[in-house]
Amino acid sequence: MINAWAATAAKQKLEPFSYDPGPIGAEEVEIAVEHCGLCHSDLSVINNEWGITSFPVVPGHEVIGRVVAVGPQAKGVKVGDRVGLGWSAQSCLHCHPCLDGDQHLCAEVVPTIVGHHGGFADRVRAQWPWVVKIPDGLSAADAGPLMCGGITVFAPLSEFDIKPTSRVGVVGIGGLGHLAVKFANAWGCEVTAFTSTDSKADEARSFGAHNVVNTRNADDLKSLAGKLDLLIVTVNVPLDWRAMLGTLGPKGRLHVVGAVLKPIPVMAFDLISQQKSVSGSPTGSPVTISDMLEFAARHNILPQTEHFPIARVNDAIEHLVAGKARYRVVLDM
Ligand code: NAP
Ligand code: ZN
Repeated sequence: MINAWAATAAKQKLEPFSYDPGPIGAEEVEIAVEHCGLCHSDLSVINNEWGITSFPVVPGHEVIGRVVAVGPQAKGVKVGDRVGLGWSAQSCLHCHPCLDGDQHLCAEVVPTIVGHHGGFADRVRAQWPWVVKIPDGLSAADAGPLMCGGITVFAPLSEFDIKPTSRVGVVGIGGLGHLAVKFANAWGCEVTAFTSTDSKADEARSFGAHNVVNTRNADDLKSLAGKLDLLIVTVNVPLDWRAMLGTLGPKGRLHVVGAVLKPIPVMAFDLISQQKSVSGSPTGSPVTISDMLEFAARHNILPQTEHFPIARVNDAIEHLVAGKARYRVVLDM
């Protein structure tokens, strides 16, 4: 039996929950969970904000642990390896995107916490390509948030050929945002942090922001007019999108990774005149995850974390809901 924490209905507290995972699948890897980050997406899935949750839901998709079992067809990892698991736990491996190295874009991708039991548990299973080795140089206690928060903000830097001379803005200095600031700084870019919480300004600078502005201050946004090449939006609420687009220079890109549930209105001419674009992306592929971990180890990039024992998972969730997380909560199993 796997001992986990689950919500049995939307907006309910997590309770102890055990399930029998059955015999290990041919391509599956079983991980003994040591630490697991708490992402805002866990909250949205617990609350069924996206309408995709299947209850009981075992959240947790920023897993760090040790491999304790492997199926007969599982490759790449062996019992005893220290590994991580992020948002995706399985993909078909034979569709065009999978064969092209974009497994995270597979139409059949199985999220770790949707229709699959996640990492707030003593053990979790996933298909082998999604179980990624953690480099020795990274602290196991704190590396978990790289597996979802980290890869989600690292992927746009690598995918869109961002250069060391590029100017990158990060909107929302939370779990994803503070990692985006660290990654963009290590990438060599000039980094502007956009926060709605003025008390985060000094810490944003310590993470590597060269400038800090207030997300909701029209004058601050005007002062950045035409300056940025890439704006990574990690908030999940509507913003003054026209003003945000205005901060981009020629060929600038507004890239949304936060799950904003309201439409984002865009005027065609705000894009056409200076060839700007608006885009979005889900986490990243196993190879990009692996590259991101190596980059993080080399540049000493880790999230700033607050640890809670798993028995206090509901307090940890409350802490995140209250906007108090600085900057990522990690649960210790
Ligand atoms: P988080 O830790 O809660 O951070 C979100 C940040 O947004 C907050 O720290 C806050 O930063 C800002 N914010 C919140 N409410 C705001 C408001 N009313 N006005 C302006 N700013 C506000 O969340 P997270 O874990 O980083 O996740 C962020 C979003 O990304 C969520 O929607 C999550 O589901 C999504 N996500 C997407 C992917 C993907 O693959 N695309 C992966 C992981 C997560 P300031 O205090 O600095 O303003
Ligand atoms: Zn996540």
